[in-house]
Amino acid sequence: MNEKPASAETGVDENKIWNECLTIIKENVPFITFNTWFIPIKPLKLISNTLKIQVPNNFFIEWIDGHYNTLITKTIKQVLGDEGELVYVILDEKENSEDPPKIENINKPVFIEEVPEAKSDFNSNINPRYIFENFVQGEGNQLARAAAYAISDKPGTTSFNPLFIYGGVGLGKTHLIQAIGNRILQKDPNKKVIYLSSDIFTVEFVEAIQTNKVNEFSNFYKNMDVLIIDDIQFLIGKEKTQDLFFHIFNTLHQSGKQIILSSDKPPKDLKGLNERLVSRFQWGLSADMQPPDFETRIAILKNKSKSYGIELSNDIIEFIAHNITSNIREMEGCLIKLLANSSLSAKEINFDLVRKTVKEISSSRTVNISIDYITKVVCEYLTVDENKVREKNRKKEVVLARQIAMYLSKRLTQASLKTIGLHFGGRDHSTVIHAYNSIEKSLSEDIKFKETVDTLRSKIELSAA
Ligand code: ADP
Ligand code: MG
Repeated sequence: MNEKPASAETGVDENKIWNECLTIIKENVPFITFNTWFIPIKPLKLISNTLKIQVPNNFFIEWIDGHYNTLITKTIKQVLGDEGELVYVILDEKENSEDPPKIENINKPVFIEEVPEAKSDFNSNINPRYIFENFVQGEGNQLARAAAYAISDKPGTTSFNPLFIYGGVGLGKTHLIQAIGNRILQKDPNKKVIYLSSDIFTVEFVEAIQTNKVNEFSNFYKNMDVLIIDDIQFLIGKEKTQDLFFHIFNTLHQSGKQIILSSDKPPKDLKGLNERLVSRFQWGLSADMQPPDFETRIAILKNKSKSYGIELSNDIIEFIAHNITSNIREMEGCLIKLLANSSLSAKEINFDLVRKTVKEISSSRTVNISIDYITKVVCEYLTVDENKVREKNRKKEVVLARQIAMYLSKRLTQASLKTIGLHFGGRDHSTVIHAYNSIEKSLSEDIKFKETVDTLRSKIELSAA
């Protein structure tokens, strides 16, 4: 009578397990995220503790892994026990095939090349997605790319030391300088390579002063084989940090260690930066990055859409390349938005959708992740009055909302600490640094808190994409 159905055939178990997972996930992510990224997933098979699920394309894996890895890992373990594991199968490869489908573990998004992890006991901060293989060459980035590639072969031994890459927002500076780090580590995982932005460098330095650890701090960086500092323009006006950086620079340079810097302008235009630093920045090679020409934009769009697993006709690619011209990040944003819109409405990507999306991107250009927008999302989510966050209100929940908004502003915009401070009732940069540090601390200590902040972050990114 009470016979159990044979689960492998009926799919009862995998459906039940996945539904349990969905119930947990639903409570932890924003509605739109849930609909866009989790509803399209189908459970395929449960084999002992491993649940195979089917996703529409690579991009899903990347997105979910990038935003919700912790939540998903935790959820599957909660439902299936400590050994519980989730395995992704991509739709196309599963269909019409007797062969075993291509299976990827959540921790290894398919299109990411495997980069050996640094064996050192510190985090190099390098994003494994930023590699030369997916960096499209064009006239605007040719010199910078060639120099970057040469350095990654022979760090510290070419005359390109420092390598100084400069150019406008969204043109690939961060991608390129991290690609150098990835390639160096790929060739020699024991190399000590570190990437950080000059703002974070400043934050750490201030913290080192407060905790009497300036020597340790400085020795740590003097010990690197490759030091990659992004957005060096944020050192402007920070005399003490510049002094310390000057010494670190000299030590590294003298011992033939590679230094790589990026900036929004060439060294000579960095007004407010100490002359002796400016002159050192000119010792090696300065290479600029220009907006991509039409052909390069086409190549980038083709490359990206392929890696996201979306198929776009040439007409559509050309339409986007004609309309989004000056910023590669916006081109990417457009593809992500197209993908999200089409998955959400289960519609194919047609010209109407493309036209609408391009228009949205052009009109949102100025509000594209602004500090005010971040503040709005954070306050709405935590139900705190936005105005109070901008005043000197010291109520606990207001302070928390303000700190999260400051933290996310630092992470998600190009704004300097000073600018961020100004948006929150004219507070000075040290308050922003304090907020940043205290949120980082809570993030590492409190998993629930981390999920809240992750959720906020993806909410902001999704609507800005
Ligand atoms: P920047 O640091 O100059 O503001 P990023 O390096 O952050 O720009 O680039 C913005 C986005 O565009 C990133 O996701 C990056 O991967 C992508 N991108 C930039 N240049 C290229 C390129 N030449 N080929 C492929 N992707 C690129
Ligand atoms: Mg950058």
